[in-house]
Amino acid sequence: MAAEDQSASVELKNTQADTAMAGGHAQSESGTRKTAKKAKPPVNTAAKASEKLAKLGLRKDMDFVLHLPMRYEDETEIVSMRDASFRGGSSVQVEGVVTECDIQYRPRRQLVVTIADDSGQVVLRFLNFYGNQTKQMAVGVRVRARGELRHGFFGAEMVHPHYKIVNEGAPLPTALTPVYPSGEGIPQALLRKAISNAMTRVNWRDTLSPARLADLHLQDFESSIRTLHNPPPDVDQHSLIEREHPAWERMKFDELLAQQLSLKRAQLTRRSKGANALPLVGELSNAFLLNLPFSLTRAQEKVLAEIRTDLREAFPMQRLLQGDVGSGKTIVAALAAAQAIDNGYQAALMAPTEILAEQHFRKIAAWLEPLGVKTAWLTGSLKKKEKDAANALITSGEAQLVIGTHALIQDSVQFKKLGLVIVDEQHRFGVSQRLTLANKVEAGKVPHQLMMSATPIPRTLAMTYYADLEVSVIDELPPGRTPIVTRVIDQNRRDEVIARVQAAAGEGKQIYWVCPLIEESETLQLQTATETHAMLAEALPGLKVGLVHGRLKPAEKQATMEAFIRNDSQVLVATTVIEVGVDVPNASLMVIEHAERFGLSQLHQLRGRVGRGAAASICLLLYQSPLGGTAKQRLATMRESNDGFEIARKDLELRGPGEFLGARQSGEAMLRFANLETDQWLVDKARNLADDLLKNDPVTVAAHLERWLGYKEEFLRV
Ligand code: ADP
Ligand code: MG
Repeated sequence: MAAEDQSASVELKNTQADTAMAGGHAQSESGTRKTAKKAKPPVNTAAKASEKLAKLGLRKDMDFVLHLPMRYEDETEIVSMRDASFRGGSSVQVEGVVTECDIQYRPRRQLVVTIADDSGQVVLRFLNFYGNQTKQMAVGVRVRARGELRHGFFGAEMVHPHYKIVNEGAPLPTALTPVYPSGEGIPQALLRKAISNAMTRVNWRDTLSPARLADLHLQDFESSIRTLHNPPPDVDQHSLIEREHPAWERMKFDELLAQQLSLKRAQLTRRSKGANALPLVGELSNAFLLNLPFSLTRAQEKVLAEIRTDLREAFPMQRLLQGDVGSGKTIVAALAAAQAIDNGYQAALMAPTEILAEQHFRKIAAWLEPLGVKTAWLTGSLKKKEKDAANALITSGEAQLVIGTHALIQDSVQFKKLGLVIVDEQHRFGVSQRLTLANKVEAGKVPHQLMMSATPIPRTLAMTYYADLEVSVIDELPPGRTPIVTRVIDQNRRDEVIARVQAAAGEGKQIYWVCPLIEESETLQLQTATETHAMLAEALPGLKVGLVHGRLKPAEKQATMEAFIRNDSQVLVATTVIEVGVDVPNASLMVIEHAERFGLSQLHQLRGRVGRGAAASICLLLYQSPLGGTAKQRLATMRESNDGFEIARKDLELRGPGEFLGARQSGEAMLRFANLETDQWLVDKARNLADDLLKNDPVTVAAHLERWLGYKEEFLRV
């Protein structure tokens, strides 16, 4: 958990920095001040408005210019009240004369205004209103109102519509009205004014030459921006609203280009740092391979070759190793470590949880120690004396392989000759944490870095968000695995499920029982786990039932896990602490309670704990009905697919890239307009151009990044 805490604090710092900058800028933004002066309390409003705008990321003129509408409202047409009442759901505009205007007191105080045109009438209902609104909308006054029309008790009505008092025949706007993303207390009018002021001052120079634009079939910058802020009357409204208009395309392209440039430039910067070349695949690597009880899969061979090639270079490897759960990443990591050791360097492996780190340690040590490798183990929970001992081994260089949790990135940990850093389940770490370990610089050299992830990312996403990394994929499982059969079962058939657990144990199988995720309360989650454990222990008298959760002391956790690994306990009741990495091949039945509360990737990760041995494995997803729409889809996806990439694609579809990527939010922040699912063709173009520009046109690179990222770029360093 500390991992997440730290990344959160990094983000916090960013916002503080933002606010500080906003304060400094408030005085100089004369345009904004003028606009704000009209607002009621005269004191300090300009500063306050700037501060609020700064919270939206709006400081420089260009920020305002690039603050594009999130949608448009169509005020260009008035619909007759009769027709309006047939248009359910969407927003419509009607106009009529007030026939009644009353304050009603039941069920609560509200202003109720009835307006009528030739075709019918509409009730406007205001639950919050000012006294003068009754005068404003006195009987006989003409009102233009826009909102969602509902069929209320007294016929067609609009609750809190936007409205205007108009004279008969008052002209309608000829263009769509932009609606801007806004924050609390920032009226659209203020944004509109600030943006149009900024547009008069900004430098419109296009960052891309006319020749390039022609090549890419893109529209120029200035006309694109103007179209989006002030759509001309003859614009194709549909394409504007759907963000398919060439003006939108240009914005999306620019944004994607900025993202690609930024990530790739970061990659080049890191590359320009030196690393120790680790060319030798020596005795240790060879002996290790020889001793393995199995041979590597073709996919493992392929990624190993890629890693070996990287390690030979005198600049740091930046490689992401993706592979579905159970695809055998650990072996590959251990072989990479062996190569570092062969070359006389230390290797460090960092895992996000103690359970996982512990398991890696046990496993990798068992492989490498017999071959003479000296290992060290470092986690936060070690006693001071043990920590000191581990640190001494690390500092002296005696420990060739160091395995642990984020305790490894503490300042007090000083490596003698760190050649390779391996980060397992890298998405669990904050960006800054990954970097800290990678930046354990020794004599100007940074270590090679291998990041591993079992959350496969669809290719499109990987190419966009991980543009700064090389990506290797293990796309095949070791042979002999029987696919896991997944069943979705109503929670009220729990008794049958318990009987199944009993039967499976009778056949010598081991069972995971995963307790429901209770996001609101860790205490409640713990309580549930304890109760489930008691319930199962009672229902399964012949069996030993273990319990593991996040609050156990490390020694207790370890003892419980070891008992399960030794098959001393047959059933392991667990919270999501077992989500990543845990590897007990004899476990072949998994029960997940309240599966509807888990996300798709999480379910896939959990399910990946079984199906690791030769026995056919079963995963039972218990759910509480009734199921919501997406929950139903998630469970169906789980039942139908065992393929991590397929599941990730589905997950992306259900959640969108922002949430899907979690820890990579910084990268996500760069994309406001582009949609990776529909704009893939733009991503490809942007990537190619980014490569070209970085090679040949540093001036354009600088100008484009300055325009699109400005001060933000330093926060996006990944
Ligand atoms: P993950 O990619 O999820 O980290 P692991 O590295 O834990 O997967 O491997 C899963 C299991 O498969 C382990 O028990 C491991 O020993 C085994 N394994 C890995 N590679 C092979 C292989 N080439 N042939 C057979 N078993 C393998
Ligand atoms: Mg693993």
